[in-house]
Amino acid sequence: MCLMLWTTGDVVNMLMAGAILLGILIHVSLFYNESRLQTLVTGLPPIIGAVTMIAWSTFSPELRGEDKIVAIVALGTLVGYLSAGAYRSLMTRETLRALVVKTTRLAAEDPLTGLQNRRAFVDLVTSQTQGGLSPILAFIDLDRFKPLNDQYGHSVGDEVLKEISRRLVQPGVIASARLGGDEFAVLIAPSEVAGDDQRTIQSLHQRLTAPIDSEAGLVSVGASIGWVGPGKVGLTVSELFHSADVAMRRAKVDRLGFVEFDTIVDSAALASSAIEIALRQAVPDGKIRAALQPIISASDGKIVTMELLARWPGSGFPRDPAPNEFIPIAERIGLLNDMLWSMLNQALPTVAASNWSLAINVSPSQLTSRLFLARLSAVIARHRIPPQRIELEVTEQVAFRNVVENCEVLDEARKLGFRIVLDDFGAGYSSLAILDRLPLDKIKLDQAFVGDLRDRAVTQKIMRATVALAHELGMVCTVEGIESAETAALVASFGCDQMQGYLIGMPELVEPVACRLQRA
Ligand code: C2E
Ligand code: MG
Ligand code: MG
Repeated sequence: MCLMLWTTGDVVNMLMAGAILLGILIHVSLFYNESRLQTLVTGLPPIIGAVTMIAWSTFSPELRGEDKIVAIVALGTLVGYLSAGAYRSLMTRETLRALVVKTTRLAAEDPLTGLQNRRAFVDLVTSQTQGGLSPILAFIDLDRFKPLNDQYGHSVGDEVLKEISRRLVQPGVIASARLGGDEFAVLIAPSEVAGDDQRTIQSLHQRLTAPIDSEAGLVSVGASIGWVGPGKVGLTVSELFHSADVAMRRAKVDRLGFVEFDTIVDSAALASSAIEIALRQAVPDGKIRAALQPIISASDGKIVTMELLARWPGSGFPRDPAPNEFIPIAERIGLLNDMLWSMLNQALPTVAASNWSLAINVSPSQLTSRLFLARLSAVIARHRIPPQRIELEVTEQVAFRNVVENCEVLDEARKLGFRIVLDDFGAGYSSLAILDRLPLDKIKLDQAFVGDLRDRAVTQKIMRATVALAHELGMVCTVEGIESAETAALVASFGCDQMQGYLIGMPELVEPVACRLQRA
């Protein structure tokens, strides 16, 4: 249309064509620009064009007086529109940019103390380690913060946290963060001078533990610091954090104030916390597998019972952790029952298809849970297995802690039809009185008995007497750890009722249902 108007050769028409073209250009320059530079580049030609046209129409002898005024007003309006629009678009962009900067800062910041939050701090440590730098990482956990918070209220607690975060800023500290609650972390530039790093941490500890002036008067909190020295190149960020955390826990438990991570001293704790992290995932994912080991009758060699044992194949560790390593952790973090239900669901179909009993190892903490027996009864009922076919293996631990409550639960279990077995008898410190104290149906003599049975006449006499004692008390007697035919024959000659051990059968993983079905 602009072209058509322009080709008429009439000045007014040509001016209109120019004004329409300018309007389009101005509009495009205002709406589709993304930066100041773009606004400038696209806005400048229309402005120059408009100004030229204003000058032309002002001085053109071909235009009449009224036409000149109309053209100048129209073109002036266009320039005004362009200037106002450009100004508004620039201001909106500035406001948005400020908003983005603020949001990014808030997302990386702990709102109470203004320190970096965990995510930002992890990002920073990641970028430092990826850049080949190796600063000192220190984890700080305040001591006695919770009681202080409870006693004086949250406003004093907040004041203390803010003051602590101010004290974290000291020469040499590259960055500080609040990881959550009363946990902080700092990155410190390492020193070339021997012993300087230790002194920096010591002075940090002194600063943090100095009394704090608050609205409740002078209050003091302690601080436990675990730090990882420089030169730990090759550790991943999560290993680095883990190491600092483990050292911090040692500082706290041993009341040392501050402690440097030590590969030898802290390795067990490091491994167990690595196991803990993996276990939290493995249990809900059903990665803990059920294995069954046979227990046979000494008289005819037939399998009477299978013992349910936990296995963790494909754990991801260089060596799959043994039950003795992960069961206590599962117990501490409250996952033992979930693990047991999952293993029972794997093993019970196999047991249901046989006439064996199933022996389950039960830890003391499981017994103290009121719902344990009810849940166990429900799980076995689902597989149509009566309680009479389930043996609960407990250790002497149940006689040491909460013995009255434990005996009540064991009595109740027996009333429901479960049988109670004392596992690892003779391995611990218990006296014979335990046999009187606990309601038992069976005892399992520990494998320590059979180690070098053949060569030890006294051990043989003790075993013979113990088997007789168990029979006298009306209990069945099993011997575990049978690894050779000689031991088996000897044990059988003492009158023991049942045997278990590698000679008789190794613990075998229960095949998952899918595999069994496929094979069938
Ligand atoms: P335990 O109940 O006394 O189980 C017997 C342990 O001796 C098993 O070790 C078994 O593999 C091992 N064993 C069996 N026959 C022989 C043998 O002839 N020679 C030797 N040297 N060892 C033999 P495992 O599976 O490593 O379990 C160790 C302990 O961990 C168990 O001792 C039990 O107390 C506990 N445990 C295992 N699975 C579970 C579970 O699912 N729940 C609970 N609460 N504890 C479990
Ligand atoms: Mg056992
Ligand atoms: Mg045992």
